[in-house]
Amino acid sequence: MTNPDVIVVGAGPTGLTLANELGLAGISTVVVERGRERSGQSKALNLQPRTAEMLDLRGWLEPVADRALTTLPRGHFAGIPLDYGVFDTRFPYQVGIPQARVERFLEEHLAEYGVPVLRGHELTGLAQDADGVTATVTGPAGERTLRAAYLVGADGGRSRVRKELAVGFPGRDARVSMAVADLELEDDPELPTEWQLPSFDMEQGPTGFLTPLGDGVFRYIFGAAPHGEVPRDAPVGEAEVRAALGSGPGFHPRLRAVRWASRFTDASRQVERYVNGRVLLAGDAAHVHLPAGGQGLNLGVQDAFNLGWKLAATVRGRAPEGLLDTYHSERHPVGAGVLENTRAQGVLAIPDDDARAMRAVVAALLATPDGNRLIAGMVSGLDIRYPMPGAPDHPLVGGRLPGLRLREGRGLYLGPGGGGAVRGWADRVEHEDAAEAVLVRPDGYVCWAGAGDGLEAALERWFGVAG
Ligand SMILES: Cc1cc2nc3c(=O)[nH]c(=O)nc-3n(C[C@H](O)[C@H](O)[C@H](O)COP(=O)(O)OP(=O)(O)OC[C@H]3O[C@@H](n4cnc5c(N)ncnc54)[C@H](O)[C@@H]3O)c2cc1C
Repeated sequence: MTNPDVIVVGAGPTGLTLANELGLAGISTVVVERGRERSGQSKALNLQPRTAEMLDLRGWLEPVADRALTTLPRGHFAGIPLDYGVFDTRFPYQVGIPQARVERFLEEHLAEYGVPVLRGHELTGLAQDADGVTATVTGPAGERTLRAAYLVGADGGRSRVRKELAVGFPGRDARVSMAVADLELEDDPELPTEWQLPSFDMEQGPTGFLTPLGDGVFRYIFGAAPHGEVPRDAPVGEAEVRAALGSGPGFHPRLRAVRWASRFTDASRQVERYVNGRVLLAGDAAHVHLPAGGQGLNLGVQDAFNLGWKLAATVRGRAPEGLLDTYHSERHPVGAGVLENTRAQGVLAIPDDDARAMRAVVAALLATPDGNRLIAGMVSGLDIRYPMPGAPDHPLVGGRLPGLRLREGRGLYLGPGGGGAVRGWADRVEHEDAAEAVLVRPDGYVCWAGAGDGLEAALERWFGVAG
């Protein structure tokens, strides 16, 4: 195999989204994945509205939504409902879809760009120099090295890439540990048939929370316990699942089989630098937190959409100065915000009287239009705004432009004048006639808007020099 331009480590939702973005941009990319086979694990069960918009931007939402199980008209904050109907979006709801189905689509779609996924290959070492990165990969045929201009660690919460970089990963340790399992259950009229917002009350203790995934399979979250009572890597045994299913009052679902089970915690940490020379971190490799409100996969996929076009321009040698660094300066604060809100949700779930009082106050605030808008904007990803230095002070600048299609992964100039203003960037920026002038980046965020002033500077800042 000839050396690729980019090695992506990890074929989870983050790595696969990034590989698609790089493939779309024509960048030669290889994905290295430890797992021999695609995981069937449900894990994340939702796409938030902003993730749906970003997949739709590329035309990838429809085939993903075809594999969805349901839509959820609301979001939630520690189980307190959030109304997404107040936003200007085509997707004011969550798409209910197990993570494995999203991954399957993304991995299959890579074939369109000829991007290989080397399954059964584990990254076991890396070194970078001024010209590139050398990765040591151990696979079925033994150890080999791969050389590329850049490497992205999208290898999950226990990222080997992050450890090899020895970059700081500050935050706080786990306090609570819980278990998740996909279960086959015996038919029972009392089993839930619809998805519900999680009660998200750790007082539910071992009884747990069931979500129907179809064909008699249920996702089960259970077993909240102080962290350390059960070792993090201790397998979740069938007996433990049976005991949890049997411990609640009244109805006791009967277990046929455990398809998959694992433990997770509320550890909350974020890497200090997303960009480390030629090695970058994205998704859970860059941030871990309690999976509250359904945000982790969404955060990782949006990291990938932010990074893909910037890395592609850098590899091609067309990136303006400092473009790649904006991946860190834009995404680190967004990740920090999610860590903060998931820690707050964790507090609201503690079974004590003061936390219950706090929960009642927060629920009252979220029932107000402003309270709902603030927190729903955060959890849905719809309120993300990036600083656009040098851009005019215009209400659209920094935010998303809903309802766009940028299927080729290029920028878009909406404006009068037949596209003459962006002619020098025609290979990177599409043009559509419109009354109001707006410049949109390939990730759907507005980087300039106004009446002519500074358009050329904005084009150079985000797309490089003309010609
Ligand atoms: C119980 C639970 C429920 C959740 N629910 C939600 C939810 O509802 N909504 C939501 O948005 N998020 C949810 N999440 C979080 C979500 O699952 C993660 O944020 C998401 O998987 C992160 O994706 P990723 O691609 O960054 O990492 P991962 O999915 O962890 O993928 C990393 C990949 O890298 C591979 N890898 C690791 N090390 C190496 C190596 N050295 N070499 C090669 N390959 C390697 C792994 O095998 C894996 O395939 C939930 C998580 C849990 C545990």
